[in-house]
Amino acid sequence: MDMRDIGLSQEFISRFEKMGYTSFFPPQEDALKTGFLEGKNIVVAIPTASGKTLLAYLAIIRCIQRGKKAIYVVPLKALAEEKFRELKQIGLNVALSLGDYDSGGTWLRDFDVVVTTSEKFDSLMRHQMRMFDDVSLFVVDEVHLLHSVNRGPTLEVVMVKMKHKQIVALSATISNASEIAEWLGAELVVSDWRPVTLKKGVFSENSITYDDNSLHAIKPLVDDTLSLVADGMRDDGQVLVFVNSRRSTQAVARRIALYNKKQGESCDAHSASDSQLGDKLVECLSGGVAFHHAGMAREDRALVEELFKKGVIRVIVATPTLAAGINLPARRVVVRDWRRFDINLGNRPISNLEIQQMMGRAGRPRFDTYGEAILMAKSPSQCTMLFDTYINAPTERITSKLSSEDALRRHVLSLCNPETTSKDLYAFFEKTFYSHQFGTDTVMEKVALTLEFLQEHALVEGEEIIRSTLFGKRVNDLYIDPLSGICLKGALKENMQILGMLHAICHTPDMPTFYLRKGEFEDYDFLVHEMKDDFLIEVPDSWYEPDKYEFFLSEVKTASVLLDWISEVPERNICEKYDIGPGDLIRIRENAEWISYAFKEIAKTFNYSHDDLYKIVFRIKNGVGPDLLELTLIKGIGRVRARKLYNLNIRTKGDIRKAPLGRLERILGRKTAVNIKKEVGIMVSEKDDLRTTGNSTLI
Ligand code: ADP
Repeated sequence: MDMRDIGLSQEFISRFEKMGYTSFFPPQEDALKTGFLEGKNIVVAIPTASGKTLLAYLAIIRCIQRGKKAIYVVPLKALAEEKFRELKQIGLNVALSLGDYDSGGTWLRDFDVVVTTSEKFDSLMRHQMRMFDDVSLFVVDEVHLLHSVNRGPTLEVVMVKMKHKQIVALSATISNASEIAEWLGAELVVSDWRPVTLKKGVFSENSITYDDNSLHAIKPLVDDTLSLVADGMRDDGQVLVFVNSRRSTQAVARRIALYNKKQGESCDAHSASDSQLGDKLVECLSGGVAFHHAGMAREDRALVEELFKKGVIRVIVATPTLAAGINLPARRVVVRDWRRFDINLGNRPISNLEIQQMMGRAGRPRFDTYGEAILMAKSPSQCTMLFDTYINAPTERITSKLSSEDALRRHVLSLCNPETTSKDLYAFFEKTFYSHQFGTDTVMEKVALTLEFLQEHALVEGEEIIRSTLFGKRVNDLYIDPLSGICLKGALKENMQILGMLHAICHTPDMPTFYLRKGEFEDYDFLVHEMKDDFLIEVPDSWYEPDKYEFFLSEVKTASVLLDWISEVPERNICEKYDIGPGDLIRIRENAEWISYAFKEIAKTFNYSHDDLYKIVFRIKNGVGPDLLELTLIKGIGRVRARKLYNLNIRTKGDIRKAPLGRLERILGRKTAVNIKKEVGIMVSEKDDLRTTGNSTLI
């Protein structure tokens, strides 16, 4: 079967050929035989890199040819961006919808296909349900994420809402793909085929035992991980090492870099972030190795991925998050840590599904004839256990996580907006994967408890017909956890102090918080005593509720990070002071911007004055003091430039308009000076003539 056999126009065939798609992989052929291009639902559960994306693209093209629209849901922003670029390359009229949860996204109507995440799509549907009437295809990438406690319920809810459309669900190899297919009334394609053969094995006592019982001796170096990496790098091999903590990624990468440098390996690259972590990365890169984890700046993670793809560096030491991200194949994958620390449960084995995701990264289609995935054992008995648990065992059954209290709170509120009945709620939950697996009655008991909770807190009202209140509607549209809404409403006061506002934001369940490190308890304990009147949330008693109090302190620590950020402390200093990565700072800032916006909106809903909150939103967005708000509204002026200008008495848009270009150029450099002049409506000609737009007055 080739591209011509499925009725693609020459135009598309040529574009696909340019992208390297000429014929089909065997699982793709199997999928094409099911008739999913004619509109049938399909679940495709095949290994990483066996070609799921092409199936999605073909379904999307066929849907558009029928005059309909498609939604493509992927789990991560980076993946969404990748798919968006490719769909553009194919020549489709595609939009990318990420970010801002409180917007209706009506502009999306002009596109044939929208690439988004399940959370963003859920929020879009809350605003504009009717907008998706002419969508006839719903593509879900990585549908096995239904199993995830954090992401699964939202994915499941949007799938239920789109169940009357055609669904194309793509999955990793999972043991109960048939159950998902039954739930969706879908054709099922399961296959173990890979473009590159994968050999799995366990390393123990200087030798790898493979799943075909063959052995491979490894030359011992100072430590086992290094021995496996050095062996994997032979003949231009590239190696991915998975460890379970950020610190380990750095420590292991440093050791490998030292070894590599002695072997004459080098690479000259620059970090994109001004941070200690960026400096450490550059140090490792100079030895041809990188670390990769969520604490790093996004630009640095992208840099590492790019260098590895190009073969400039040959080793990445990563936390498991890398395995869920963009496709970054290596010849050898080493899983050093197959246990992970959980704050509640201690050191726990990682799930088989997650280990398979990591192992599946082995084998580079264009470079290797095979890939190898090696687990590391500390003893022969552990070696046997690893074979039994991860190599010879099927992956865990995917189960719905929809009945969790947190998930139901959010989604039941959404279903009550603007109104619903018990019968409608039952009808909705009857269609869920949860009901398919465990029956509708079990989940309905929990739904009833959730409704009581929402009623108690005045988010919904009514008996026969259940309606969202004004507060409930706002919380729903803001896309925050109802508990966050309740917390922010309870915190409202006239004359709120900055620390109190920032802490209230950090107290909501939608905000991640930084744990206290050794010795920090005393610092924040002191701060809380000093500033206790500023807090909008009651301070727990440190004697009677020590755990709660410690958690409160970690929220105060997170609020302090934000306070430094809006006080213009340089990012590098913030990261060093709190021992966090630039990636953590960005995540906290982005979340805090969203929650502070919600705080302001809730204040408005309850007629509180909200000027201070309005300022806080902007200050968090831009990381500046209140005096810089006007300057940072201008595109191209960030916190550092704004402060420079302000100190030189250029403080408003008008000041920028009036300032001679030469002066701005001396402060900001030519390019920025010209750009910001344009931003305030002054056109700058080639010869530095300055004319105001519209009336061409020379100034
Ligand atoms: P998956 O989503 O299953 O992990 P992808 O769809 O990303 O895998 O495909 C993995 C790689 O294989 C990509 O680089 C893709 O371009 C390539 N590929 C997929 N299908 C084909 C094909 N039919 N012919 C050539 N290359 C293909």
